[in-house]
Amino acid sequence: MAGRSSAGRGRAEAPGTADAGEGVAAIGPAARSPRQAPREDATSARAAARAARFADMMARPGGLDRFMSILRSESLTRAYVSGGREITVLRDITFDLEAGGFLAITGPSGSGKSTLLGLLAGLDRPTRGRVVLDGHDLSTLTEDARARVRTAKVGFVFQSFHLVPTLTARENVQVPLELRGEDGRTRAEELLQRVGLADRGHHYPAQLSGGEQQRVAVARAFAHRPKILFADEPTGNLDAANGANVVALLGELNRELGTTLVLVTHDPDLAARARRVVRLRDGVVVEDAVAAEATR
Ligand code: ADP
Ligand code: MG
Repeated sequence: MAGRSSAGRGRAEAPGTADAGEGVAAIGPAARSPRQAPREDATSARAAARAARFADMMARPGGLDRFMSILRSESLTRAYVSGGREITVLRDITFDLEAGGFLAITGPSGSGKSTLLGLLAGLDRPTRGRVVLDGHDLSTLTEDARARVRTAKVGFVFQSFHLVPTLTARENVQVPLELRGEDGRTRAEELLQRVGLADRGHHYPAQLSGGEQQRVAVARAFAHRPKILFADEPTGNLDAANGANVVALLGELNRELGTTLVLVTHDPDLAARARRVVRLRDGVVVEDAVAAEATR
């Protein structure tokens, strides 16, 4: 994919970890050569670029948190027993996502995207491997404890919106806050304004277009300020223009609020907005790429 490097290279650009190999090569007289000077220039230019990226990252929401892993998937494997036979639909999925990151999981239908998202969000349990979500090893938690972690830290956006049809747009955003003991009305109104629906708060879902309903669902998902937001094909039921709007909105909220975003999509154009793309095929990772700095 143009403009992307492998995750290994992308991660090696983190401050403090880079260029150990080159540094070692430059030590000692044996390493001196007429080509030394330009090489040092190139190395210091890279160091300066890293320092600038570091300063830029620290200035964004999330700050230092960005260097900490918020989501770790370790050898995640999920098998189903069907007709007496075991079918492995996800195999050995391993990756680490930094806080504030924007990851797209992509791949053809049936490749295991929704299964992976359910495991990462603690909705489902792996056959083997484990998920560490913001320091919690989900495999060691009871169902109730996992539910508490989800309530505290996780937001969801589904393909089919999942709004409550008997509640207005504002109430759909407000009710989850009320369930947590907050009044939530002011925050619900602010969020609806943020997603461009300030004047539609009193409308019921059936009175809104698909794109508008999904924007309400995005407002609801962000309402309790989750550290991490999972979205499963959030544009799958939208036309291209509305889909692009919703993904742009998710990207803005990721940048403004520092909310880590994990988005499933089979649309490569939408995936291209993410800083990191993990591509699945037949339950295995076939590509794990970090966007080049210039495309962010
Ligand atoms: P995607 O979201 O990429 O379309 P899924 O994660 O939904 O893919 O499904 C991956 C594979 O796992 C598919 O072959 C699907 O049929 C299978 N699968 C999903 N859920 C179950 C289940 N509960 N029982 C058996 N097979 C399942
Ligand atoms: Mg799916």
